[in-house]
Parts: sequence; C-alpha cells; structure tokens
Amino acid sequence: MAKYIFITGGVVSSLGKGIAAASIGCLLESRGLRVTLQKMDPYLNVDPGTMSPFQHGEVFVTDDGAETDLDLGHYERFTHARLTQRNNVTSGRIYETIIFRERRGDYLGKTVQVIPHVTDEIKAWARRLSEEADVVIVEIGGTVGDIESLPFLEAVRQMRQELGRGNSVHIHVTLVPWIAAAGELKTKPTQHSVKELRAIGIQPDMLLCRSDRPLPASVREKISLFCNVPPEAVISAVDVESVYEVPLVFAEQHVDEIILDLLEMRDRVGERDLREWIEMVERLKNPVQEVHIALVGKYVDYEDSYKSLKEALLHGGLPYRCKVNISWIDSEQLSWPECIERLQPYDAVLVPGGFGKRGVEGMIHAIRYAREFKVPYFGICLGMQAMVIEFARNVCGLTDADSTEFNPATPHRVIYKLRELKGVDALGGTMRLGAYPCLLAEGSLARRAYGVAEVRERHRHRYEFNREYEPILTAHGLRVTGQTPDGVYVEICELPDHPWFLGCQFHPEFRSKPLEPHPLFRSFIGAAIEHRERKKAGQVMAHKVAR
Ligand code: GLN
Repeated sequence: MAKYIFITGGVVSSLGKGIAAASIGCLLESRGLRVTLQKMDPYLNVDPGTMSPFQHGEVFVTDDGAETDLDLGHYERFTHARLTQRNNVTSGRIYETIIFRERRGDYLGKTVQVIPHVTDEIKAWARRLSEEADVVIVEIGGTVGDIESLPFLEAVRQMRQELGRGNSVHIHVTLVPWIAAAGELKTKPTQHSVKELRAIGIQPDMLLCRSDRPLPASVREKISLFCNVPPEAVISAVDVESVYEVPLVFAEQHVDEIILDLLEMRDRVGERDLREWIEMVERLKNPVQEVHIALVGKYVDYEDSYKSLKEALLHGGLPYRCKVNISWIDSEQLSWPECIERLQPYDAVLVPGGFGKRGVEGMIHAIRYAREFKVPYFGICLGMQAMVIEFARNVCGLTDADSTEFNPATPHRVIYKLRELKGVDALGGTMRLGAYPCLLAEGSLARRAYGVAEVRERHRHRYEFNREYEPILTAHGLRVTGQTPDGVYVEICELPDHPWFLGCQFHPEFRSKPLEPHPLFRSFIGAAIEHRERKKAGQVMAHKVAR
C-alpha cells in the first residue's frame, strides 16, 4: 500500500505546484523510492484535449495516448514515473462516469450527490495508483477557495482520515509577496490561505512559500505560528533561474527528510543521491557557447503552448554545454522573399505542431528558406506536413499541393486523412494518439541520431503523409526514413542533400528529459552549432536571388 502526498495551492495560480510536485518526486527517487504522480483538475472538460493552447497551455500526450495537463510533462521530466490515462483526471471525467452509471441504473433509486458519490470517485482515482509506487503524489489543480476545487479537497480530507497517521502528507504551496512600498515580505495571504484550508478540515504539514527572495527566519517563524506548521516545514521556495534547480533548493532545506519522517519511511530509504542531477544543473547554468533557434509557429504569444518543446530544445544543448536561445516568430508575419532577411540571423529553424490553416503559408516560406539556404530545419508534426507541402509545391512543381486540413479541394492532397478513408475514425477519439513503433531506414540522419533501428514515439494528429505521392516526392530528392512496421504510416522524412533537414509526424519533445536529452533534439542542436560555425567562416549562402 502506497503512502500519499497531497499538494494544493493557495493565494494565486501559477505558483509552480506542478514543478514543486515533480521536484518532490525527484527527491524521493533520489533516495531509491518508486514514485508516481497524479494531477486532478477541477474543470469540467473531460480532458484538456479540446482546449486551446492559449487557454490551457500545451496538451501533453502519454505513451498510452492520454491527452493530459502539461504538469504531467514536468512529472516525466523530473522522475522516472511512467504516466498513463490514470495519472490525470478532471471533474468532467468524474461527472461523466457518475452520470453514465446513474443512467445505467447503478444507484438503485438513491439520490446521486457530490458527497459521497463524487468524492468517492475522486478517492478511487487516487487509490488506483497505490499498487504502482511507494509514494503517490497527488496535485490538486486550481487554488484553495475556488468553488470547483471543493469536492477534491473534501476527498483529500477524507482520504487522509482513512489512510491514518504516518501514511499521508499535505503540502500547501503559497505566495509570500514582497511589498516594495513597505520594504517587507507579507505573510498575510499565506495565513488566509491556510485558514481557508483548515476551515475545510485540512491542516497542512508543510508550506512551500514562493517568493522572489529567501524568507528570513523571522518570517518563517511568523508563518509557522499563524499556520500551525513547524518552522522547519515552512520552506522558502525562492525564484530560481531554471526549474531544474528546484529539487536542489528543496534538498537544502531537507524537504525530503521532513516528508520521510511524516510518512514514517526514514528507515526504509537510502542516502539522497542527486549527483547526476547536480551535474546537469551545473552544465545548464554554465554554458560555454550558444545558438539561436527560430521557432516559427502561430501560438507565439503564449509560451506554455510549447512547454515540452522548449524544454526539449534546452535539453538538446546540454551535451554541448550550449545555451539554446529560442525566438518565437509569428508565422503570420512571414512572406516570401521578405522572410529571408528576417530568418537569416538564426542558426536553425523549427516548425512545431499546430492545428488549422492560420499561419501555415508563413511556415511554408520559412521552410523554403531553410531548404534553399541549407539552414538546419526540424519539422514536428504540422512542421513535417508543411515541409512535405513546401517540397511538393516548390521542388516537384505540384502547385497548390496542400493538406486536406487546409484545402479540402486541393488537386494534390499530399497530406490527407488516411484513417477517415478507412473508416477508422468512427472509434471515437478522432486523433492518432500515443506511442507507435517506427522503423528507421539504414543510412538516414534519423538512424544516425537515434543509433537504433526501431523507436517508439508519441503522436497527436489527424492527417498524415499520402503515400500515393511518395514516388514523385522521392524522385525529386525527399527521402522517407521512418515508417510504421506495417508500412502504412510515414513517420519521418528527410532531405539527404542538406546538412540537417528532417520532419517527423510524432512529437519527440514529449520524451525528452534533462538527464536523457532526446536524440533528435541533440542532433538538431549539434547541426545548429555547425551552421553557426559555417556562418562565422563565411561559408553560408548570404543571399540568393529569390524567385
Ligand atoms: N493539424 C495536423 C494534424 O491534425 C498536425 C497536428 C499536430 O501538429 N499536432 O494532423
């Protein structure tokens, strides 16, 4: 039977509860414990798959094809936990289950209520993970005081009671703001937030106090007194340069020891071993070189929409001690040939995943630039589809080639919905989701980067490469270098006659971790470094007459 850690947040949102949960997971693993993490989201969407990335940030995809909250990305990057459908649940999912059962007649004439039916279902989700790990970390989304979080907090209260002493810990993440006019750190918002928690029957065991500067002892003591938490469990979660420093900040303040004592597990664990992690943070903070990557997409003004991608790029630089600077370029602003000048300062171009027609033409211009000027190009999902469209139009002369997503009437549907034609879409989820195997062609860039012949990568798309166009595309120099073992789906395309030009239908960013940078990102950053060097040596095409 696993022990549980519940994490809630107070005062304001965006305090980094997800990073805090992931960091605690990292610390417990460093002591040899098996951990898993779960996110409970109080909103009514059944999953975040239908939400705009502007609303909710990235949709993170697990191996088994769950469309989940982006916090699961943090969990996987900081720990070895293997997350699935079971690690993220929303109010929407819970109500869906209960209403389905009610219609089926399962409740036998009873009134169906928030307590106990909704709370029981919430507890069942948390308990389902108890076989998987020594410690289950459950993060409750939203902020204490929100109406929609109440059933979750009530479930946590009940569960702590049921688990008994020494089997659960409650951690509350709050804000201690610096008020410049008074020259003081203010503890009142934290006091109020804890008061709110206690009013619903939860006494936190530990407070992670976010602030822009370390909390002095006097402030910690004050919080301890008013919130009924021992002073050593009032943790100063000070702002750091990189999220990967958070486990180290927590370790310094003995967060793991305090938790292990509360869970009565101290004698079951080994010494903390964070050597690899510390080494990684050291590399990250002391780069010896840098590259500049142009990220051409349409969700540019909201960074969270490409969270995993940003992290994966950063990981890709670690083996070279290379700082990766990312410039988000709005594809709607790009036209041909004006974009040449706009993109020339960068060492590489990346077009990430996306949906809908808006901004696609600009992406195609950026890809044309990268292809013609021999600048490293990485296309992910939509970025691969746009790469195929660009090649069909500008190299194969298939004017108006397109994806049926953007132009259903195109005479050359180089990207189309194969599964719809096969009638597979009727299965419900309309996207191809989760991990699929992919065979890598001998002698390809992909094969060299991965160093193996078969990989498994995660997908989230509806449209795919149309193999009917493969003969004409390959006759002009494009190479299909990755496909599913059954030969149905094209997963990777490359241009062999180019320093680094690769598109993949999957999302490699979901599998990249700071301790295991993804091979494609690592290889791509290597190519960006080489391009930077070629630029320095004056070996790149400065200007080519467009058109
Ligand atoms: N819109 C494209 C599709 O549905 C690409 C999806 C993506 O980039 N994730 O296939």
